[in-house]
Amino acid sequence: METPVSALHSIADYRTAYEEGVRLRGVRSACGFVTATWGLVCPKCGQRDLVEADLDGRGKICAFSVQNVPSDEFLNDAPYAYVVVDLEGGGRITGWIDGVAREGDLAIGSPVEWVSSYKPGVHFRVRAGATSGSGAP
Ligand SMILES: [Zn+2]
Repeated sequence: METPVSALHSIADYRTAYEEGVRLRGVRSACGFVTATWGLVCPKCGQRDLVEADLDGRGKICAFSVQNVPSDEFLNDAPYAYVVVDLEGGGRITGWIDGVAREGDLAIGSPVEWVSSYKPGVHFRVRAGATSGSGAP
């Protein structure tokens, strides 16, 4: 059974699902487009066929920046990295990785996984045994 996006409880519910450590939620279209960004219309094909989907918590970093001056929510976690992750199975999502103080501590392409956490936002960590972006399997 698939839940039409139009039947979702609310955007707030959608956004807090991952913050409660339940699951990563996104939407997908029959055309194959997947995104973590809530919406009503598929930006790829224009259809209003988006259905709710659980996203894979594993992916690779496609962009990041180290944050030394955090927002209030992350005062106790700075420095950290703000990351953009391409998820396995599709979808791109923004999140953060703690304990990152320098640009050299992370690399584009590093495999990461979502951490179920009480902390705000989508919390990722570098997958064990994978600290470089060399792409070697
Ligand atoms: Zn589509």
